[in-house]
Amino acid sequence: EFVVLIRDVALVTDIEDVAIRVIDACSYLEIHESQRIPISIDIGIANYPNDATDASDLLRFAHIALHSLDSMRHGNYQFYSENQRTDHREGIMMTGELIQAMQEDRMELHYQPIYCLKTDMIISVEALVRLRTREGEIIPPDDFIDVAERTGLIVPLGAWVMKKACMQLALWQKNGAKDLCMSINVSPVQLGDHGFFNLLETTVRESEINFGSVEIEIVERQQVGTDVDLILTRLRNLGVKIAVDDFGTGYSSLSYLHAYPVNELKIDKSFVDRMLEKSGLSIVETIISLAKNLGMQVVAEGVETENQITMLKERNIDIFQGYYFAKPMILDDYLLWHKSHKVTVIPQ
Ligand code: C2E
Ligand code: CA
Ligand code: CA
Repeated sequence: EFVVLIRDVALVTDIEDVAIRVIDACSYLEIHESQRIPISIDIGIANYPNDATDASDLLRFAHIALHSLDSMRHGNYQFYSENQRTDHREGIMMTGELIQAMQEDRMELHYQPIYCLKTDMIISVEALVRLRTREGEIIPPDDFIDVAERTGLIVPLGAWVMKKACMQLALWQKNGAKDLCMSINVSPVQLGDHGFFNLLETTVRESEINFGSVEIEIVERQQVGTDVDLILTRLRNLGVKIAVDDFGTGYSSLSYLHAYPVNELKIDKSFVDRMLEKSGLSIVETIISLAKNLGMQVVAEGVETENQITMLKERNIDIFQGYYFAKPMILDDYLLWHKSHKVTVIPQ
């Protein structure tokens, strides 16, 4: 880390100017005249006297601004704001709570079915993680996944999710649901972790399930061109299925499909919700035809109404996930739900 001190600033744009020039100047490392390695830097900015009046606070706030930047997109600058300080404080508290919850076995998985209307079968179950506070309150993943990613805690947390989900699937399969699959969310940070491939391979083998009954759901945040394509290809070769979650909401959709061996696209709920608008419908139709042309399966996420199902069915979608069928449920509720739906009965 380096500190840049700018004196006698007249306009905020002067600071931005310096920030952009520093980012540009640090965009590569020249090892040799013909060899440049691309690098990037991030900049956090705090202002005297608006943000703080002493040096240590100024540095601290610049630091908070720096860490509020998206860890996935480098080469940016960010001014400090009060909100970041609250976020930062909350982030620290959530980190502590997450560590404790993991130690005290307070993380849990809820299960939501993914249903095929054509065959009237539940083809997969998505494992969705939650944190239970000591008071018994359930904290949704949106409140802690981000912190888990920023702190690296997502790696042990993801490993726990993977083990728990695979063990559960093994049990269901032994009890009659032979063809059921488990869909597991994998964060880009986890996917970029060097131990990920071994973790998945070992967990699946130890659970005595087939690689083909595991699907990982990845999001479009991972930068294309890292080792991720290699890892995904190795997983695909084992038989693991790969789905792109929230398809269309990322910023690299098409290059993503080109680089990675993907089996399935999950149409994001936001598009399903906007199907009554012309542009929303066009997006859904485009995703469907893209998937079909590339030989990929399509799943519609967040389906809540009969009307949405009808519209999607007319466009040859058979696989659905959403509150219309079932919300994510704790294990016991899921078992009851599954039995009452007479699909493949799971006794335990
Ligand atoms: P996601 O993977 O897109 O999961 C679907 C989310 O939409 C779930 O929220 C689910 O409860 C919700 N959902 C499903 N159907 C409907 C519907 O019909 N209506 C509405 N309003 N919502 C619906 P949840 O469980 O809160 O999870 C949020 C996100 O957290 C997930 O989005 C996923 O990105 C992340 N997540 C959950 N579990 C894990 C995990 O084990 N690892 C990682 N890395 N991320 C996870
Ligand atoms: Ca998902
Ligand atoms: Ca999704």
